[in-house]
Amino acid sequence: LLTGTIGAAAVAMAASACASEDGGGDGSGGKKVGIAMPTKTSERWILDGNNLKTSFEDAGYEVSLQYSNDVAADQVSAIETMVGQNVNVLVIAAIDNKSLSGVLAQAKGQDITVIAYDRLILDTPDVDYYASFDNTKVGTLQGTYIAEALALDTAPGPFNIELFAGALTDNNTKYFFDGAWAVLEPYVSAGKLVVKSGQTSLEQIATENWDGAVAQERMDNILSNFYNDGSKVDVVLAPYDGISRGIIASLQGNGYTEMPVITGQDAEVESVKYIIDGLQSMTVYKDTRELAATTVDMVVAVLDGKDPEVNDTETYDNGNKVVPAYLLEPVSVDKTNYQEILVDSGYIDAKELG
Ligand code: BGC
Repeated sequence: LLTGTIGAAAVAMAASACASEDGGGDGSGGKKVGIAMPTKTSERWILDGNNLKTSFEDAGYEVSLQYSNDVAADQVSAIETMVGQNVNVLVIAAIDNKSLSGVLAQAKGQDITVIAYDRLILDTPDVDYYASFDNTKVGTLQGTYIAEALALDTAPGPFNIELFAGALTDNNTKYFFDGAWAVLEPYVSAGKLVVKSGQTSLEQIATENWDGAVAQERMDNILSNFYNDGSKVDVVLAPYDGISRGIIASLQGNGYTEMPVITGQDAEVESVKYIIDGLQSMTVYKDTRELAATTVDMVVAVLDGKDPEVNDTETYDNGNKVVPAYLLEPVSVDKTNYQEILVDSGYIDAKELG
């Protein structure tokens, strides 16, 4: 899949480069793309930004790449600036999925193509396509990993579980949690999994800004309020590696030497090291190279007046319309397959895992 997708992107890039050299296509000068990423505090968005920038530049685009440190208003300003610079395309990983209607209306007024990148943008007609991963499946992989690691179908249990979710301003958060909860909830109902904190609603378990420090503090509170009787946490559903590491720091600070089963997402180098060291159990790998290639394919097609390839036209209703999407497959990674999936594929250099 990986080679196929990147191959297709390369072909599309070559085709578009020819078209513009020929004076074909629909413009005279070079095309401009504005890329708005959320934050540099997480490794994945740095990789996304770099992959997108390189791929668009290789395809002959001029690129403006902006990060906004997880401040939604700053991202709106950054996008306004790009609109003012007359970009042809905007590729946006939204910080707050509901904050962009105004600036995107402006963009549409200038005929700018808008791609929601990884995170769907809500409550606006002015988003053309969505490039992402199967977000429900991310949660399914996390939930299934837990069920299998604890052998929930056969082990007597009960096991103590605590739940963490991402930021409520991110449309993916609900999809990740719903995917995991669909697997886990039946075991909670059957009494095999017990949430001692009682915190199971998305509002209770969400983590502002996906911030590991916020998760660490919440875990500290859970441990001191609900596990002060000598009982132990057996498993933690964590949606993202940075949050997983915050939870692990809390557990370590509270005297845990053996970690519970802990999930994650993004295959960040630091967490892959944790997986090798037995601190974190798994992560969900989403190849940001593939996502960048898919996005470039989409953009090249749209600007050539063609319909880009999509594989989902039903799931992602943004409150205004169903946004046609291309969804890639996430992959579950633990210590048994990280070498093959992450290192042999060239996603992580073995040296970084040192
Ligand atoms: C992305 C995840 C990431 C999270 C925090 C989500 O929208 O899909 O890959 O872990 O944001 O940055």
